[in-house]
Amino acid sequence: MEPANTYKLNHIANLTSHCGRCDLCKTRTNAVPGTGDASARVMIVGEGPGESEDLQGTPFVGRSGKLLDQALAEAGLPRSEVFITNIVKCRPPGNRNPLPQEMDTCYPYLVEQIEIVRPEVIIILGKVSAEYILQRPVKITKENGFVTYAERRSELNAQLFLTVLHPAYVLRNRTPAVESAFFQAIQTSKDIAYGCTNGKVSTRSN
Ligand code: URA
Repeated sequence: MEPANTYKLNHIANLTSHCGRCDLCKTRTNAVPGTGDASARVMIVGEGPGESEDLQGTPFVGRSGKLLDQALAEAGLPRSEVFITNIVKCRPPGNRNPLPQEMDTCYPYLVEQIEIVRPEVIIILGKVSAEYILQRPVKITKENGFVTYAERRSELNAQLFLTVLHPAYVLRNRTPAVESAFFQAIQTSKDIAYGCTNGKVSTRSN
């Protein structure tokens, strides 16, 4: 792990904990900036913190997080080796979807985090996050496990994304097929990030 990256990510975490750029700061218990390996090959981006995350200040620690942990473990990718964050760093009240204006306000933090970590692959969890980052309609059940670029966002040029079902969706629609599609997409992300699929070779030196 790069100490400089950790320092820079901690700085962003500090900024988010004092952030008052949008109204979500009025109802948060804790900001949830993100956690994990500051030089991770895989970054995971969800929508926004839920209740457990808001209480603990850590992303994906509730029911969705447990399922995500399970999928990561099956892919041979410990949570400690990925960097996990969300588009908005503070909980939308009642777990509603983040508003476009809230995502716009918080987005610069995410861009900075991506620039610092420089992951091989970013897993975008769920339709709301995918449509916001990719700036196009996404039918997430059709695009689960698909590799894509954020062509409409010049600041994210050349960054590889994988659109994946949100674990909350998997929990709500739990069938062996849906669960297996989710687990397979996480496995694909890991395989691409570590250069072990379809002859793709990682260019990452660390
Ligand atoms: N759902 C998300 O999108 N993010 C979290 O951190 C938890 C649940």
